[in-house]
Amino acid sequence: MSLERTLTIIKPDGVEQGNVGDIIQIFEKNQFKIRAAKMLHLTGAAAGGFYAVHRERPFYSDLVRYMSSGPVLVLVLEAENAVSRLRDLMGATDPKKASEGTIRKRFATSIEKNVIHGSDSEENAKTEIGYFFNALELV
Ligand code: ATP
Ligand code: MG
Repeated sequence: MSLERTLTIIKPDGVEQGNVGDIIQIFEKNQFKIRAAKMLHLTGAAAGGFYAVHRERPFYSDLVRYMSSGPVLVLVLEAENAVSRLRDLMGATDPKKASEGTIRKRFATSIEKNVIHGSDSEENAKTEIGYFFNALELV
């Protein structure tokens, strides 16, 4: 077991649908501590930079448009094995394939509009936390 930090984003559809409270409750009920939080309306450039790893994928331009279409809530969560535990709580990218009870199964409407982002490795978590937060903004 190791205490880790991970980055999560409640995406524009999650904010617009009013899922913020339910999702934060899921984090807290699962022993995640919130170490930073920030509401942002990402520019296309900021969303594109965040998902730059996907820039060659056919869905990239739609993903950038979606992620910059409205406000998002960006959080840093801390817990034992936070990276993999958050990914388990989120469920599969495609909500049709997500397990019962996962955040995406409950709230997502498509493989694109899937409500939540979570870092997929500890190394990427560090990079992603640094993308949004400086040292003074982390508690
Ligand atoms: P995230 O990185 O947001 O946590 P993920 O790791 O489950 O999601 P990725 O493969 O990293 O999935 O894709 C990033 C995001 O791009 C997805 O969450 C989704 O919003 C969008 N996306 C992924 N695959 C597709 C697809 N085939 N068609 C449309 N959008 C997609
Ligand atoms: Mg991903």
